Amino acid sequence: MTISLEGKKVLVTGGCRGIGAAITLAMARAGADVIACYRSGGDHVDALATRLDETPGKYHLTRADVTSSADIAALVQECRDRLGSLDVLVNNAGVISHIPFAELKLEEWQRVVDTNLTSVFAMVQAALPLLSGNSSVISIGSGSAFVGLALRAHYTATKAGLVGLSRSMSRELGPRGIRVNVISPGVIQTEKELSDEIVAKYTAMTSAGRLGRPDEIANVAVFLASDLSSYISGADIDANGGI
Ligand code: NDP
Repeated sequence: MTISLEGKKVLVTGGCRGIGAAITLAMARAGADVIACYRSGGDHVDALATRLDETPGKYHLTRADVTSSADIAALVQECRDRLGSLDVLVNNAGVISHIPFAELKLEEWQRVVDTNLTSVFAMVQAALPLLSGNSSVISIGSGSAFVGLALRAHYTATKAGLVGLSRSMSRELGPRGIRVNVISPGVIQTEKELSDEIVAKYTAMTSAGRLGRPDEIANVAVFLASDLSSYISGADIDANGGI
C-alpha cells in the first residue's frame, strides 16, 4: 500500500540532514507540501533540494534555530504565510554528546535540554494556532530513553522527557483533533561515520542483524502523518530492529 499525504502541510525541524532529511523527502514523495528547517546551511541543503525537485510535493527549506524563540516565531510565521496552516509537525532537531556524568557541565546539560526537549515545548506551543483539527505532532525520541546510556545522561534524560511531554500533550490536545506521538529509533546509520566497533556492537544487539536506515524512520513518520494512524496518540513507537 502506498500512503498519500496529498494536501497535507508539513513542517520538519532539523529536516535537511540525517533522519530529518529522510523524513522531509519521504513526506514530499508522498505528496505533502513541506517546509524543512536547518540550523547550519551547506552543500547538504542544496543536495536535498535537488532530490526534492523530483518529488510531487512542494517544498521550502529555511534557516531556523529551534533554541531561539525569535527563530521559532519567524518559522511559524513563514508556515502561516506559505501554507496557511499545518497538518503535521515533526520535531526532529536534536544534538548528542558523549561525556562522563561526573564531568558533565551545566552548560552542556542546558544545550542538550534546550535543543532536544525545550524546543519541542516551544515549537508545539508556537505552532498550535496553525495546527488543523486533524493534525499530527511527531517527535523523534530515542530507544535509549528507558534503558539509559553511559556517557549520555543528558541526552537520555531529554529523550525520556520527550515521551512524558508528548503523552501529556496528547491528553490536552486530543480534544482539538491533534494527535501527539514519539518515534524512538535504535541506532540509525546516517551520513555520520560510525566506527567498526560501534557498528558491530549495536548490530549484535538487534534482531534484524543490522543498523537502521534513515528512510526506515521516515516511513514510520509518514504513517503517523497520515490518516491511517488516526487512532494512535500518546504512543512511543520503537523502530529499532528489535534491540
Ligand atoms: P544529525 O546530527 O545528523 O542531525 C541533527 C539535525 O538536527 C540536523 O538537521 C541539525 O541541523 C538539527 N539541529 C541540531 N540543533 C539544532 C537547532 N538548535 N536548531 C535547528 N536544528 C538543529 O542527527 P540524526 O539525523 O542522527 O538525528 C535526528 C534525530 O534523531 C535527533 O533528534 C536524534 O536525537 C534522533 N536519534 C538519532 C539516532 C541515530 O542513531 N542517528 C538514534 C536515536 C535518535 P544542522 O545540520 O543544520 O545543524
